Amino acid sequence: MNQNLYSLLAEHFPKNPAAPCMILPDGRVWTYGDVERASGRMANLIVALGLKPGDRVAAQVEKTPEALVLYLAAIRAGMVFLPLNPAYQRHELEYFLGDATPGLFVCRPQVRALADELAAKAGVAHVLELGDDGRGSLIDAAAPHADAFETVPRGSRNFAAILYTSGTTGRSKGAILSHGNLAHNALTLHEYWHFQPGDVLLHMLPIFHVHGLFVACHCALLNGSAMFFEPKFDAARAMQLLAESTVMMGVPTFYVRLLHEPTFGRETCRRMRLFISGSAPLLKETFDEFKARTGHTILERYGMTEGGMFTSNPYDGERRGGTVGFPLPGTELRIVGAGGTAVRTGEVGSIQVRGDNVFVGYWGMPEKTKEEFTADGFFKTGDMGSLDADFYLTISGRSKDLVITGGLNVYPKEIEELIDAMPGVVESAVIGLPHADFGEAVTAVVVRQKNAAGKALTESGIIAAIKDKLANFKVPKWVYLVDELPRNAMGKVQKNILRETYSPMAAR
Ligand code: AMP
Repeated sequence: MNQNLYSLLAEHFPKNPAAPCMILPDGRVWTYGDVERASGRMANLIVALGLKPGDRVAAQVEKTPEALVLYLAAIRAGMVFLPLNPAYQRHELEYFLGDATPGLFVCRPQVRALADELAAKAGVAHVLELGDDGRGSLIDAAAPHADAFETVPRGSRNFAAILYTSGTTGRSKGAILSHGNLAHNALTLHEYWHFQPGDVLLHMLPIFHVHGLFVACHCALLNGSAMFFEPKFDAARAMQLLAESTVMMGVPTFYVRLLHEPTFGRETCRRMRLFISGSAPLLKETFDEFKARTGHTILERYGMTEGGMFTSNPYDGERRGGTVGFPLPGTELRIVGAGGTAVRTGEVGSIQVRGDNVFVGYWGMPEKTKEEFTADGFFKTGDMGSLDADFYLTISGRSKDLVITGGLNVYPKEIEELIDAMPGVVESAVIGLPHADFGEAVTAVVVRQKNAAGKALTESGIIAAIKDKLANFKVPKWVYLVDELPRNAMGKVQKNILRETYSPMAAR
């Protein structure tokens, strides 16, 4: 049987090719028939360019229907798709092209000269353009090709995509995902989250990342659903579209911004069936406020580039705020201590996972891949967490964000939660900064509210307020008050940037 992911998705496309797939901000609609034909033309083009199954197709383009179709065309033709964040600059691009050596690079028209220069250097044979208006030489070159294309047979272990991790420590790594990895996760989520006829997905995430490209699009495509396909998140626009949607997937920032809208509430969400959050921790406070305002309980899930989704709060059972729920069917999850043995209930350790969704390995890095897997085949996620007595998983942060002060471990989340609960605080990030005596000193970067309570906050006041609640070694040595935390496109707080920013101050 052909295990090409596209074949699986296409089997579930609606019988009626006129059914809507993507609804655009200007009201234009891409039907499932349009998607099938356009991906056929593009797949024919890719083959005509001389690319062979297994060759890479890289794309650094804005979110448009054509960009999603390019992804589908690439996997349909048996190629390996490489989505790149449009924010990447010259040196990052140079590394990705040199590392993945694609046969085709699709770029934005405005950076064509740079793309040509870097493609020549990396030996990339073809460069085509796709603009944010959905036009460009990619579309022109595909136009004369036939709509029909026989999806190239692939096995479940053949590569479908390479997604570069954000690489906050050291070199960014290309996580290889196979057709089987993606299919397994897509089918699991589709079922676990009860996708059903009539569902309409509000899609405001970027599509160069696992969340927007795989989790969101695969669920919608497998369900034959329409997506409101928006270039980016905008709270006012989201409020309009929520009235006609049933499912939304977002990063926590989306939910925080919706709650900032004074008129956001039950009425806005009257058709909604499910709100899903992930990619970064959802504050318990946001979870609670969202429930109070809308009557909806956000379903939080956890996963990463290297395997899609690993855990999810239940659809029918209790969705517990501050937790990421249970391992998904087909995912084995364990938490181990320093010696590699399982920790006790409630104790924090390193999260490891095994299952068909877990990636193949890092592109061109067999040694690194080996290091990241245990002898019995579990992937070391690099996240720390604990299981409660009911087996709900709570994430405590990345192991590299763990602060070790005077030889003792401090989990940033424990301190962040205490600070976040203080009046006048929006949120906080706890990091370790180099310290002559302790190795690292616990440091809190705190965002204050713009109201009187926020203005009244002081560094020493924050320390005094949490001192009684924490062992002395966990109490921040330094506190910095700021207006906002640096975040990446997926809403993750960039602790590496905070460490870089505040290390010189700590040294003084
Ligand atoms: P990425 O590979 O960009 O998707 O990032 C994956 C990382 O995001 C994970 O390893 C976690 O550290 C973090 N992450 C994803 N979902 C959650 C969540 N629900 N809560 C806390 N952290 C999360």
